[in-house]
Amino acid sequence: MSALAAVATTRDCAGPRLQVDLSAVAANTRLFAARTSAELMAVVKADGFGHGAADVARTALAHGATSLGVTSLAEALDLRAAGLTAPVLSWLNPVDAAYADALAVEVELAVASREHLEAVVTAQRSAPHQRSARIHLHLDTGMARDGAEPTAWAGLCRAARRAERAGLVRVVGVMGHLGCADDPADECNALGRRRFAWGVETARAAGLRPARRHLAATAATLLDVRSHHTMVRVGAGLVGIDPTSTTPLRSGLTLTAPVVSVRRVRSGAGVGYGHTWTAPAATNLALLPLGYADGLPRLASGRAEVLLRGRRRRLVGRISMDQVVVDLGDDHAEPGDTATVLGPGGAGEPTVAEWAGWSDTLPHEVVTGIGPRVRRITVPATPAIPALRSLS
Ligand SMILES: *Cc1c(COP(=O)(O)O)cnc(C)c1O
Repeated sequence: MSALAAVATTRDCAGPRLQVDLSAVAANTRLFAARTSAELMAVVKADGFGHGAADVARTALAHGATSLGVTSLAEALDLRAAGLTAPVLSWLNPVDAAYADALAVEVELAVASREHLEAVVTAQRSAPHQRSARIHLHLDTGMARDGAEPTAWAGLCRAARRAERAGLVRVVGVMGHLGCADDPADECNALGRRRFAWGVETARAAGLRPARRHLAATAATLLDVRSHHTMVRVGAGLVGIDPTSTTPLRSGLTLTAPVVSVRRVRSGAGVGYGHTWTAPAATNLALLPLGYADGLPRLASGRAEVLLRGRRRRLVGRISMDQVVVDLGDDHAEPGDTATVLGPGGAGEPTVAEWAGWSDTLPHEVVTGIGPRVRRITVPATPAIPALRSLS
């Protein structure tokens, strides 16, 4: 190892660390699999909600999920490159995406327009020896976002059926998505369910036989069995985020940072950019080497806390790009102590949900926002039993 590499490794180990405990993902996956008689797709977009896409995928598949879902083709190809062979669906791509690459490794594609269908058919024609493209027709069930508009749906179904008869595609699924599923009283849910049922009927009338019909994500899976159909797509729930506040899920993330330095300041000392906080009395301040570039939302300035030496302490002053300041009062800390910035909460540390509250955002944004400077350490879900056996 070169001297430079050795220095880099030492520095990485000493800085902020994100520990990802995959046993939480395993437990959550088992819970969701037990909550439905439908198939469970593990949604591992955005690097598995910041937990590591391939790690979350492998763990979920070992504990009850049967397929994987991602947004972009690049994410799907990364899963294949990591050695995952389970069915993978990619649902949001521009018309000129690398569909031929996707078909070469049997990535399933959501299709939401005639233009996208044409692009997939063209890619399939360029490789006639390959198995026909497996597609899921995507209907907008009420979010005015992705998915085909209802007025275009029947035409899309007929075009897909023609491509199917020509041996170019197989329509294996129909999908929709609900925009208000965390509030079951919202009438947009009933509307979405009705529109989805109509979409499936329309596909059948066009001669299609989509075996996988999927509408529900985490919230609808937990709250509304009528939305389950033959498959549910769960992402947030697998990493311990419950948008419905009804279900005990486990969080596997622990973000820690070392204390870099400690100083005593006088009453009236201004801290950080803009001096948004000045010490009301003499106090001890500890410096942590992480900031908004590492995923601590700047909006949490003045509200956020960390756990240090067994107690909650306030961050004071603005959260900077690379550093934050902890108010210790008259307590002491030393360089090299470790602060827990967020974690499952069992030791009194702030949780992802608390950080979301301090930042006026969702837990989803907190977990997907942790930056690339933070060193990730992944703890496998199950002990290496074969290795233990070989020891005995
Ligand atoms: C992100 C996403 C999901 C997963 O949603 P969660 O609420 O995180 O479970 C499912 N389907 C689609 C289309 C998505 O974009």
